[in-house]
Amino acid sequence: MMSLFTLQYFRITMSNIRIGVLGAGVVGVTTALELQKEYPSASLTIIADKFGQETTSDGAAGIFRPASSFCGPTEDISRQWINDSYYYYEDIRKSAEAAHAGVIQMSGYILSSINKDIVQNHYLEKLLPLFRRATEEELSLYPGNWRYGTFYTTLVTECRKFLPWGMHRFEEAGGQVKNKLLSSFNDVSGDFDIVVNCLGLGAKYLCSDHNMVPIRGQVLKVNAPWIKTFLYGDFDTYIIPGIEAATLGGCRNYDSYDLRVNRHDTASILERCTALVPSLKKASIIREWVGLRPHRSPVRVEAENINGLKVVHNYGHGGYGVTSAPGTAKHAVQLVKEMHSARSKL
Ligand SMILES: Cc1cc2nc3c(=O)[nH]c(=O)nc-3n(C[C@H](O)[C@H](O)[C@H](O)COP(=O)(O)OP(=O)(O)OC[C@H]3O[C@@H](n4cnc5c(N)ncnc54)[C@H](O)[C@@H]3O)c2cc1C
Repeated sequence: MMSLFTLQYFRITMSNIRIGVLGAGVVGVTTALELQKEYPSASLTIIADKFGQETTSDGAAGIFRPASSFCGPTEDISRQWINDSYYYYEDIRKSAEAAHAGVIQMSGYILSSINKDIVQNHYLEKLLPLFRRATEEELSLYPGNWRYGTFYTTLVTECRKFLPWGMHRFEEAGGQVKNKLLSSFNDVSGDFDIVVNCLGLGAKYLCSDHNMVPIRGQVLKVNAPWIKTFLYGDFDTYIIPGIEAATLGGCRNYDSYDLRVNRHDTASILERCTALVPSLKKASIIREWVGLRPHRSPVRVEAENINGLKVVHNYGHGGYGVTSAPGTAKHAVQLVKEMHSARSKL
């Protein structure tokens, strides 16, 4: 238990601290906001070479749906991240900010014709307000030989809205923003007491982390406001309605760095999604987009001293960064506190 004196001392030292958040994707923005909440008078700066629509986060459909294989260092920590993230977005959804932040509630089906494990999810079954097996009748609602299915109610966070909303809040509360391409941690070492590394795939290079692997994904953003239900079929086929567009996907190309739109992927996505929902043939394509999921197993949230610079890592969220960012941000802030208080006592 902290004494009143220690608590007071801790508050004073934290108010003087200079913290750099490296990266302005969903992980960087949620981390910066979480730091600001905990330490409103600290000096906080986000540094990145890409913002908003230039980030990987921008193209994500943003559905809150961790894969069962998503993992942190332990099962308990992974579950904590997921639960914390869910309640973070749920609080926004219930607030007057929901539309500006791009957070909406969404229900839909996970369907499979081949494997019952695909439709289960140990993270979500106890967390979501509604999570149940689909009935035989429901399995016949969509073309295809669906044998297994789950219906649930979750959240969708559209980063095209959430990132500008988060950046605006950060700056409004006194946060600084710097556009800079970093080639090493030395580039920021004199400027901050602690930095939080939210560089996504960029961390592969700055940390020489061979466990970081890009998993390429391609999606189509379409205008289909009549689609109100999310749907997942086999082989990475998904339809996720959003606020500004519906996202049709997809593919997962492990260890691929190819950022070009591939016309064969486009054709395959359209064929699979229109087979599931024929009315999508009438949807106009707004844009085609490719992103590289910054995959690492486990996701890295840990403290490290790099040549005298205190670094808290927060990267490697793979295909589940929107889903898990607020939870890992909370964990990263805890590590910042521990690292700084250890330093202050020296
Ligand atoms: C097709 C597709 C669909 C997806 N759908 C979903 C979904 O429905 N739900 C979900 O939860 N997740 C989804 N994801 C995953 C999600 O997009 C990622 O997990 C998430 O965007 C990772 O966020 P990030 O902040 O770590 O990385 P990024 O968004 O890539 O941000 C990295 C930041 O670091 C900066 N940076 C990197 N290197 C440097 C450097 N050297 N110097 C300066 N700045 C640097 C960049 O400029 C950027 O600001 C999807 C991904 C793809 C590709």
